[in-house]
Amino acid sequence: MENKRIEKGERAVSTEHTAGVTTDALQSETVVTQRNTGKLLATHGYVVGIEISGSGARQSVALAALNGSILQRICRPLDFVPDSETALDLLDDMLNEVLDPALLLDGRILRVGVAVGGLVDATHGIVRTLHHTHGWNDFPLQDYFAEKLDAPCIIDNNANAAALAEVQRGAGKGERVVLYVGLGRGIGGALIVNGNIYHGTTCTAGEIGHMLVKEGGPRCSCGGNGHLEAIASAQAIVSSLRELAAEYPPTMEAIHRITGGQVEQLSVEQVFQLATQGDEIAQHIVNEVHTYLSIALTNIVHLVNPGIIILGGPVAQAGELLIAPLQARIQQICLPEASQSLRIVQGSLGSEANIVGAVTLALQDL
Ligand SMILES: [Zn+2]
Repeated sequence: MENKRIEKGERAVSTEHTAGVTTDALQSETVVTQRNTGKLLATHGYVVGIEISGSGARQSVALAALNGSILQRICRPLDFVPDSETALDLLDDMLNEVLDPALLLDGRILRVGVAVGGLVDATHGIVRTLHHTHGWNDFPLQDYFAEKLDAPCIIDNNANAAALAEVQRGAGKGERVVLYVGLGRGIGGALIVNGNIYHGTTCTAGEIGHMLVKEGGPRCSCGGNGHLEAIASAQAIVSSLRELAAEYPPTMEAIHRITGGQVEQLSVEQVFQLATQGDEIAQHIVNEVHTYLSIALTNIVHLVNPGIIILGGPVAQAGELLIAPLQARIQQICLPEASQSLRIVQGSLGSEANIVGAVTLALQDL
């Protein structure tokens, strides 16, 4: 391998980091396809994909062949929010594992793609800010990884990356105008037109999480009020139900029942299930999500007239419980000419969309 190896550095892995790694991370998946030889086969080289979530707590690294197949992948979610230095140290360790020269037969790293859960200036390769953590403002991430891995690097917002992946190899194949909405801890959006990411003038196109949908509404991660993200993100949905349930004992009992007593583990899918089971507080929250998400999406549909809206992220895991009422409301309030052929679907890449997106960014840049 011609690439410069990543130096481990002097930082010892502290017990705090080890303790912070969740059970999932301890069982982190490493996929090696060519097990018969113990070597990864590549004739001309590889690409590397890197995912950094909006809080920095979910990080993934993938090594992929030039046909896009992922040869190795490590995902290490944390149960704390790291600052930028901690996140980059952990990524260094993960890169060292994935790029083990003993596994690489030949070829070198040709491109690095990075999907970041925040405001990214993709033109200049700079992270502008991550609203859910700190230490990332104006961080030159593209140069950082290009130097580390001795290969050209491309960075972009994670919704843009996931959208590109869904269009090239997921639910949006063959579609010309695609709106992707990543409903995670925050809300990201992306517009793909004729196979290309639409970035806008200063690379903030698609930041639909910060659309004002409810004047005087709850506070958003960006500091504003009534933004879509403050109502319909995974964090907003789950924390709203927990907060309201503190004053409604039947709802609190229902949460205990559905989570097996692990109230902190309550998922968005479970909130939707509680609503379906008749819990009035959960129904109120789900209704708010449907109402304000349909308003935001309808406004976007009137502007860009997409053929498909792909919903990704943990909130989309609610599947038809989210999508069917949403589709019905949009049909009600949208001009028929704009919505008659519109499809709203769940992304087909699931929780892999961002890391596959990072790999896709790298491949598209070759
Ligand atoms: Zn906001």
